[in-house]
Amino acid sequence: MSVEQLYQEIILDHYRAKHHSGLRDPYEAEVTHVNPSCGDEILLRVHLDGERVADVSYDAVGCSISQASTSVMADLVIGKTVDEALAVASVFSDMMHSQGDYAPDEDVLEDGIAFLGVAQFPARVKCALLGWSAWKDAAARALALAELVEAKTLAEPVEAATPAEPVEANPEEES
Ligand code: ZN
Repeated sequence: MSVEQLYQEIILDHYRAKHHSGLRDPYEAEVTHVNPSCGDEILLRVHLDGERVADVSYDAVGCSISQASTSVMADLVIGKTVDEALAVASVFSDMMHSQGDYAPDEDVLEDGIAFLGVAQFPARVKCALLGWSAWKDAAARALALAELVEAKTLAEPVEAATPAEPVEANPEEES
């Protein structure tokens, strides 16, 4: 089996049995991204646990490349911190913009290396990046929301700082 055939098999495996597909609760952000040039569409949710990507769930329609790439993306980002996952997203994006002239690191991209061949076809690059761009958008929204919640939580003790009734010390119990 040639490398090209192997890559094609990996893509088809993910397309036939998409990992982490379906929409789940809870989630902090939900986005819809479309790739009009191919007709790919994805509704994607991100659930963060602190800085960590606890879950990515999605409902996707479109070509095998867009759906398989989303399946691989979910495998790669779930369990990582947002920063770690963004670093992988950046590596994947570099490969997709390489026109195929790239030596992918399987330790970083795992099954994502299978899209190296797709990088030779500019029209399909957007298909392969759709799920990733949806994830980046949703993760940014979820983080922004978490920061708002944190800011509110930090602000609350200030609001609650109206003077309480002074507690009178009991001199007898102090000694
Ligand atoms: Zn497509």
